Amino acid sequence: MAAHRSAWMNEDLDALRDLARSFVEKEIKPNIEKFLEAHQVDRDLWNKAGELGLLCMSIPEEYGGGGGTFAHEAVLMEEQARVGDSSWGGSLHNGIVAHYLLEYGTEEQKKLWLPKMASGEVVGAIAMTEPGTGSDLQAVKTRAVRDGDNYVVNGSKTFITNGQQADLIIVVVKTGADEGAAGISLILVEGDREGFRRGRALDKLGQRGQDTSELFFEDVRIPVANLLGTAEGQGFIQLMQQLPQERLIVAIGAVVGMEAALEQTLRYTKERQAFGKPIFNFQNTKFKLAEVATETRIARVFLDDCIAKHLQGELDIPTVAMAKWWTTERSTAVLDTCLQLFGGYGYMTEYPISRAWVDSRVQQIYAGTTEIMKEIISRSL
Ligand SMILES: Cc1cc2nc3c(=O)[nH]c(=O)nc-3n(C[C@H](O)[C@H](O)[C@H](O)COP(=O)(O)OP(=O)(O)OC[C@H]3O[C@@H](n4cnc5c(N)ncnc54)[C@H](O)[C@@H]3O)c2cc1C
Repeated sequence: MAAHRSAWMNEDLDALRDLARSFVEKEIKPNIEKFLEAHQVDRDLWNKAGELGLLCMSIPEEYGGGGGTFAHEAVLMEEQARVGDSSWGGSLHNGIVAHYLLEYGTEEQKKLWLPKMASGEVVGAIAMTEPGTGSDLQAVKTRAVRDGDNYVVNGSKTFITNGQQADLIIVVVKTGADEGAAGISLILVEGDREGFRRGRALDKLGQRGQDTSELFFEDVRIPVANLLGTAEGQGFIQLMQQLPQERLIVAIGAVVGMEAALEQTLRYTKERQAFGKPIFNFQNTKFKLAEVATETRIARVFLDDCIAKHLQGELDIPTVAMAKWWTTERSTAVLDTCLQLFGGYGYMTEYPISRAWVDSRVQQIYAGTTEIMKEIISRSL
């Protein structure tokens, strides 16, 4: 069967893929067990990525970035997902946090933070979710009350990716009296502010090497200049504009997860023998893998179309919601089928398929649940 090549790839991106693959093979793959044990990556992984120019590749050069596009970020995300790593929060730092700064930050904010994010000196996070609210973002309770030239921030956040290592956190707060969307703003909180505290890295079912954390804010004084952008009350619109790219990033992880699982399962079933022949030769195995290969190809073609449209600025919100829920649900189903074909070995943590299976589940939840994606789609019908 002819190999599939994404139409958005080109020679420049092929060269980047080689670099990204060697970085991932050298700095991430051999350390996955260590990251899982520590519930976080080594802090200097960020600096190593920065030295190679692998951070903020889609940020303009004038702010220290690589001057590339989302395609550059996608290549790195694909290479990371291909080795089954879910510990490094690079995609959130590069593909999400840096873009909030680029799109809405003042010139001073961009010049201050983006070069440091590109070098790995600063790690970024975004804190929307609270113990009391996730899907219903308008209901956040964390409040930033104006006091002279400062905001005083009180509240707490949970499930925050890069929570232990983040030096800069974009925090979703209520600034106005309006309890709905119009009262929401985004502010930049530095990790060393007095009154800011990190809880423990949360103990999770999967993605155990990721430092997902609770964050607490107790009378944290933040200069008014740390408001992202220049006007209060823009936060909800900013979130709605950036969430599509976040959802596309999740879909990339889901599709590469399917591709990697198919490859591993083909290899395993052709080697493993039962009843005197490779288990691949049983009709059930062949048919299951034919289905997996078909679904994986459909997912890839849809994803590639979304990436191509996004690169043209033409990816609409309902379409990316479709990609997000469908690829993540299919990914979990495909991984389940593949795991079954590994028999008992599929349940052993030393086999990457077992970790991929548990890691995949959360993709249906974060960046907006499947149900919220269907809400968004249905509103456009
Ligand atoms: C590993 C991990 C990493 C994360 N990283 C981050 C991060 O970096 N930053 C951040 O801010 N958040 C992060 N999150 C939080 C994540 O985005 C939320 O968990 C998610 O949005 C769901 O919110 P919730 O957990 O409060 O669930 P809830 O909103 O309480 O939802 C519970 C259930 O109700 C359903 N539901 C809710 N509303 C509706 C509706 N209108 N119609 C139908 N069904 C509905 C949901 O679909 C879900 O099934 C992370 C979560 C995890 C697990």
